[in-house]
Amino acid sequence: MSEDRERRRISLTFDNGPTPGVTDAVLDVLAARGVPATFFVVGANLRRPGGRDLVRRACREGHRIGHHTTTHTVLLGAAVDAEAAVDTEIAALAAELTEFDGDEKLYRPYAAGGVLDRQVLSAAALRYLQDHRYTCVLWNSVPHDWDDPDGWVERALADAEAGPWTVVVLHDVDSGAMAHLGSFIDELRRRDIDIVQDLPDSCVPISRGEIRVSLDHLLPLSPTS
Ligand SMILES: [Zn+2]
Repeated sequence: MSEDRERRRISLTFDNGPTPGVTDAVLDVLAARGVPATFFVVGANLRRPGGRDLVRRACREGHRIGHHTTTHTVLLGAAVDAEAAVDTEIAALAAELTEFDGDEKLYRPYAAGGVLDRQVLSAAALRYLQDHRYTCVLWNSVPHDWDDPDGWVERALADAEAGPWTVVVLHDVDSGAMAHLGSFIDELRRRDIDIVQDLPDSCVPISRGEIRVSLDHLLPLSPTS
């Protein structure tokens, strides 16, 4: 290993759960390896039987918990009524997550297929996140575990190799993909890639309500422009 190169890092994030039978297994794998991660939960799943218990367990075991919308179906920048979409998709779930907030409230927008385009946020959503001092967490690796439950591992490893700091989006959903999580983590370690819970500034455009990086590319073009 060269001395002058910074060590590569990866932050593991798990979206769209909690899913009984899957999130538990993910937590077992992380606990067995001592790996801290971040879970971005969907309100509809949190509200299902067993959902809150799984998120409580994740929180207790040192993982961070974030808000990943109420229904995971609305692209905020495409909504006809942008204010109403913020109410139902962000504000409506916020109170149900306060017990998991820690010292920082995390929010990850829904983006269909993980694509960061102009439908992901809206001016109304941006105002809400600023006013309520959210930290907005994006990503730079989407290995498509949900539709390629075996092939995602190689893509995620390639992204992590490319570095310097990868924020990978995985999903604790019923795809079968998480069966490879343990071997993925073992391989990251074999390749000397540090698994961290912190996040790189490049994936955190809003920190505690302060805009750090322009989000213009995630907002709809203004109708007047
Ligand atoms: Zn998602």
